[in-house]
Amino acid sequence: VLQTLAGAFPGNALLYKWKIRTSGACDLCGAPAETQAHIQCVCAALKGARIAAHHGLAGMVFSSIAAGGQGWNVYRELTLAGLQGLPVPAAAIADWSRMCDEITDRDLETATDAERALASGIRRKRPDGWAVHWGRRRVRILEFTRCNDYRPDWRETTEDYKTERYRPLRDKMAAGLPPAWSVETVCFTLGIRGSYAEAQWATSLAALDVSPAGVVDLMTTLVPRCLTELDGLYKTRSTALRQKSDA
Ligand SMILES: [Zn+2]
Repeated sequence: VLQTLAGAFPGNALLYKWKIRTSGACDLCGAPAETQAHIQCVCAALKGARIAAHHGLAGMVFSSIAAGGQGWNVYRELTLAGLQGLPVPAAAIADWSRMCDEITDRDLETATDAERALASGIRRKRPDGWAVHWGRRRVRILEFTRCNDYRPDWRETTEDYKTERYRPLRDKMAAGLPPAWSVETVCFTLGIRGSYAEAQWATSLAALDVSPAGVVDLMTTLVPRCLTELDGLYKTRSTALRQKSDA
């Protein structure tokens, strides 16, 4: 982990640069440059481990929102079609079902080159989660991203992209609900090395009624877990390489 924090995990691309290897290619998937970002965020051979890391971290964030006790309901891994099946309080049923009638899973079919370039390796037809406050008529599309944090603009790039991706859906849902409702996309972006925009996370979590103590609790467990996941992916890589050379 320490090597990674310093930007010097010996992936093949770095070993090639240091002239220790004759090629910088990834031994698992054949990609031309096995950088840290490739291992952590791109390599197809490590997709399963990366999705598990993403889900584990996102789950911690969503649990802290659900645990706030202020009336937010968090729904994970719910497709657009699944919105219709939510248990809706009587007062909201008419508004909600009218909106759901307008929405289909096709409303998220916007796979673009930009998405592939971002190479999260996780492209799905549903957001990571939904937070709904039925009493206050608020719907929040929740997106959690674990991403490469070596580039200085990593967070803005990721969040701009995510917000753009969900904008048509957000607009359609907002248009399908009466004006008393609000629909927004909320992005939680965590760098692979545990870096995050502290003020922004605090603001986003506060808007979902997570208390200041709840925010501290979450971040003091989330960041170490993020580093454990980072280390876990390198271990998965080593195991896969060993299995490959044994075969
Ligand atoms: Zn690879």
